[in-house]
Amino acid sequence: MEVQAERILCAFCKKPMALYFCLECKSLFCENCAHIEVRDYNFCGECHSTDLRELKERKGDQETIKVVCLDCRSAQIKTGKKKTQLCPACEKKSFKNISKYQHYLHMQYYEFCKQLLIALDLLYPFVKKMDWYRDRVLTLRDQGYFIYPLLESKLLEAYLSFDTIKQKALERESHYLSNLRQYVLEFLKKKQINPYKFKEYMEKLETIELESSLYRRSINKLLERYTELFAELEGPLNILDFYRERFENWKEVLNLSMKEVPLCNLPEIDCTGSSSSLSLKTGRGHLFFTNKRIIFVGKKGLVSKSATKFFELPISKIVDCKVDKGILSRKALLKTMNGTVKFSGDKKILTTLVKYIDFMKDWKNHCVRENHIEDLRRCEVSLADIKRKVDRDIQGLLPSKYHQLFTVRPRFRARSKRVIRPRIIPRIRNQSNNPALLKKIDALKREKYALLRTIEALEAKFRSGGIPKEFYLQKYRTLTGELYQVDTKLDELNGTA
Ligand SMILES: [Zn+2]
Ligand SMILES: [Zn+2]
Ligand SMILES: [Zn+2]
Repeated sequence: MEVQAERILCAFCKKPMALYFCLECKSLFCENCAHIEVRDYNFCGECHSTDLRELKERKGDQETIKVVCLDCRSAQIKTGKKKTQLCPACEKKSFKNISKYQHYLHMQYYEFCKQLLIALDLLYPFVKKMDWYRDRVLTLRDQGYFIYPLLESKLLEAYLSFDTIKQKALERESHYLSNLRQYVLEFLKKKQINPYKFKEYMEKLETIELESSLYRRSINKLLERYTELFAELEGPLNILDFYRERFENWKEVLNLSMKEVPLCNLPEIDCTGSSSSLSLKTGRGHLFFTNKRIIFVGKKGLVSKSATKFFELPISKIVDCKVDKGILSRKALLKTMNGTVKFSGDKKILTTLVKYIDFMKDWKNHCVRENHIEDLRRCEVSLADIKRKVDRDIQGLLPSKYHQLFTVRPRFRARSKRVIRPRIIPRIRNQSNNPALLKKIDALKREKYALLRTIEALEAKFRSGGIPKEFYLQKYRTLTGELYQVDTKLDELNGTA
């Protein structure tokens, strides 16, 4: 039921009409009952600015204080009386105009309706990220980098369990929706918001706010273990990328055969000698490991520094590799069937060399199985069902004039080929012949169009992480407030047109 603004009684004089609502003590009061506090204040006599500052001036031992205007530097300061209205009950300044506060509560509710999108907003970047990791893994595998076999199974698990996550997210969304529904009648129309119940409404909105944060938190919680998983993938993928880059840089010299699998590589190691039976070329270079051989490559020539292969040894000829015992030793011996090769360098590099040789001899156990790759390739996660549900919920909750703000979601537009344009122009019921009125309507329409675009752009910016949430919310509230006013005006004008 609508409460006529003119009939709202002041809590103090018991007469209509109360204009203000105190946020502190929640009382409604009228213009006449508001307390007036009169205070002296200083202002600039030249430009009326109140931006004043005290300046210390020193003349000999005397220090005088001079007040100047920060805007025009004038020292002609005058004093005036400033009247401030205060709440008659608690003497606080924090009160709001009743009509504006109705509007605020109404918009606040609308804002909370938007929170239905939380599930979608949080899951979407997630799916994107999961797909991104999948692409990275598959690209590496397609290029023949098969070590770190767990990447696929971890990602597979993430894909397969995502349906459960979606299910749970939808449950949370439904729960939140039921909260919104409970109060929908009270908040849907600004005029229906009864000022006598402001206090109650504030509490209701607080409940909804709490629910929305629970909703957000629970979904973040659901996604937590995926965040951990992504972090686990990052390390191995970076290492694989590093190997790939080096194999890529030296590919002409390495000349891998079709069935040869690149495993890993060790940059900057010194080969210092070999048995006379082998008589290999020595020097500083990079050691590459494949499933078939080790290849030692480096740069030759003082001027041209052309890439060259120093030597290669087939895996079948390699017996083992050991770091020389002794704390100060900087040598490792690679034993082959035909003799030994000496490497020297930092102990850490030498231990890695030993590790890589062992790894290479047992490479099959460190490589991924093909079927996992294919399974992963087939995985697909879609959020279309969640989007449909949320859209439906919003449509069921709010009148159509709000829908466009929800359904025009720039981020989702890219995926679907269909471009949804907001319905900007409300149908004019009667064509009027009044040109002034039509001009006014036209201007409002343009304003509305601009506002919708700005809101869209703001949302896009927020989603891409370009602006902080506080800024977004603040700006968003102002814009939707303006939009609401333009809408109301348009409705009025269209009614008279
Ligand atoms: Zn009064
Ligand atoms: Zn008060
Ligand atoms: Zn001034």
